[in-house]
Amino acid sequence: MKSISYAKVDCSGNELKYVAEVLSSGWLTTAGKTFEFEKKIAEATGAKFACAVNSCTAALHLAVDALGIGPGDKVLVPAMTFTASAEVLRYVGADPVFLDVEYNTALLSPKILEAGIRANPEVKAVIIVHFGGQAADMDGIIAVCRKYGIKIIEDAAHAFPTRYNGKMIGGFGDLTCFSFYANKTITTGEGGMITGNDEALMKRIKIMRLHGINRDIWNRFTSNAPSWEYDVVAPGFKYNLPDIASAIGLAQLERAEEFRQSRQRCAQYYYDRLSGLPEIDLPSIKCPMEDHSWHIFPIILNDKSRIDRNRFIELMAEAGIGTSVHYKPLYRMTYYRDRYGLTPDNFVNTERIWKGCVSLPIYGLLGQDELTYISEKIKEIISK
Ligand SMILES: *Cc1c(COP(=O)(O)O)cnc(C)c1O
Repeated sequence: MKSISYAKVDCSGNELKYVAEVLSSGWLTTAGKTFEFEKKIAEATGAKFACAVNSCTAALHLAVDALGIGPGDKVLVPAMTFTASAEVLRYVGADPVFLDVEYNTALLSPKILEAGIRANPEVKAVIIVHFGGQAADMDGIIAVCRKYGIKIIEDAAHAFPTRYNGKMIGGFGDLTCFSFYANKTITTGEGGMITGNDEALMKRIKIMRLHGINRDIWNRFTSNAPSWEYDVVAPGFKYNLPDIASAIGLAQLERAEEFRQSRQRCAQYYYDRLSGLPEIDLPSIKCPMEDHSWHIFPIILNDKSRIDRNRFIELMAEAGIGTSVHYKPLYRMTYYRDRYGLTPDNFVNTERIWKGCVSLPIYGLLGQDELTYISEKIKEIISK
């Protein structure tokens, strides 16, 4: 029987070579490799500044802090996302206000956003999730946010490399947060990056990334002043990315577009083989195939399907095919449900997605025969 995992990491490029360079340098924490990684991500995204951190969750926390979001503040968050997008608000005593998403894309639309702001006029900011690797409608979203004076944090954990109108995600909102977690489009094992164009915000982020020390890591590393001499200006965090991780990231970055293309090949194959099946809704793409990072390929078993999502996943597993679910909506998680008294009724589209969503394997190491096998099994299972 075949065994096809949901995700698989490809570290067959320069990863070992660059990690070996770090190990033999004798300096394992944040230094040259991390500064190089920051520089290259800034170049790749076109953002003025980039700050490497040890997770996207840390990046989101630092972004929320830098934008001055604090106790009692409200921030809009799509319900269809990972808990990290919302939990960081609780870190600073702020509260998420959850919004529904579009059924076909699982994205926040400018229309949903504007309705959310009108219903909650006191909101300070919105967290935009580029779900699956397709960019949200940033022109529309920016126009709405300008109109009401609210800040934009992009949770771009799925979105490297993603383009919007041909331009890389990384500098549309006030701050953009990327993830290099093990199963993301490029990885450092654990890691993240914040990009943006505002120097004052980035200065705060760099100070808070390392204990609230007033000289950032680069300054302590390169300046003639002794590195032991520093002041603490805030109770900061320990969120820096070590050079071992950045070494892996540099090697992954060299192949980011190659990885993206190979995931696009998988997506194209699924569209070719699975479109037209009445039981399955395929992800709807409003951008050119090339602008999509193709991090996730979520299909939805709709109400014409005779078997439910959980049974489908079981049968796929029996056929040796790993799948995943993105996501169980946050209003269904005990913490958010109980704290905010949420019910599914206010999230019609998210609920429809949740009932039927299954994410298929999508990565470069998937061979043509495996893609064929997956597609044939899906057809077999839904026609049972
Ligand atoms: C993976 C993910 C995160 C968290 O990333 P980490 O690097 O693991 O902290 C945040 N938001 C979304 C949408 C994610 O998929």
